[in-house]
Amino acid sequence: MPNDAPTRFGTYGDPPSAKALRERLVDRVVALGVHDPRVLAVMREVPRHWFVPEHDLERAYGDHPLAIGHDATISQPSLVALMSEALALSGRERVLEIGTGSGYQAAVLCRLARHVHTVEVVPELARRAASTLRALGCKNVDVHTGDGWAGWPAAAPYDRVVVTAAPEVLPPALLDQLVDGGLLVVPVGSQAHDQRLERWRKVGESLYKQDLGAVRFVPMVHAPPSPRP
Ligand code: SAH
Repeated sequence: MPNDAPTRFGTYGDPPSAKALRERLVDRVVALGVHDPRVLAVMREVPRHWFVPEHDLERAYGDHPLAIGHDATISQPSLVALMSEALALSGRERVLEIGTGSGYQAAVLCRLARHVHTVEVVPELARRAASTLRALGCKNVDVHTGDGWAGWPAAAPYDRVVVTAAPEVLPPALLDQLVDGGLLVVPVGSQAHDQRLERWRKVGESLYKQDLGAVRFVPMVHAPPSPRP
């Protein structure tokens, strides 16, 4: 039988060793200060190793980002947990994610919210993430290829918006597409070493910002303009 390892991304199985590694990861996430029981339950459940090109389970469940090609990374799992908690999800929300990457954050969100729209600028990553999310049975996620600077107006407004690539300034379209009372979680900063994770709450015409600490994400790129007809 031909060895399909190079073309297969992740391993669509879930051995007890992977479950044990997720327990260890959740212990670390708790030690780092994430306590939302729904977030912790989902972190125990979602097979992160399906989303990484890494056949070593220990590395797949380490608390660090991993390269997934196209200059993208799957975020550090404790940061996925922190951002998911910061979104304060009850299960009823419609969520917009910018920066699908591997699809792992979207898989976590789809179990915590009613519906997730996720936008990825690299078509190949969007395709791969959509297929992993399908394999996982995430039916309430739509993966779109596009430039996240514009948000995803077709399905706006959203109760929550989360950005997993760092823009140098807050993209105005994302605030526009947020409902009154909605939350936006975004790492902002032009340099990798001075990004801050910000949580914005929109209340009527007012915006309230909370600083959630220093982070490091890949930059949010400006997509090339689409060719003129
Ligand atoms: N949430 C991802 C991690 C994403 S890494 C996960 O769970 O795996 C950041 C991603 O943002 C990369 O895939 C990158 O291609 C994408 N990205 C960068 N700029 C973007 C833009 N302008 N619009 C949409 N996606 C963008």
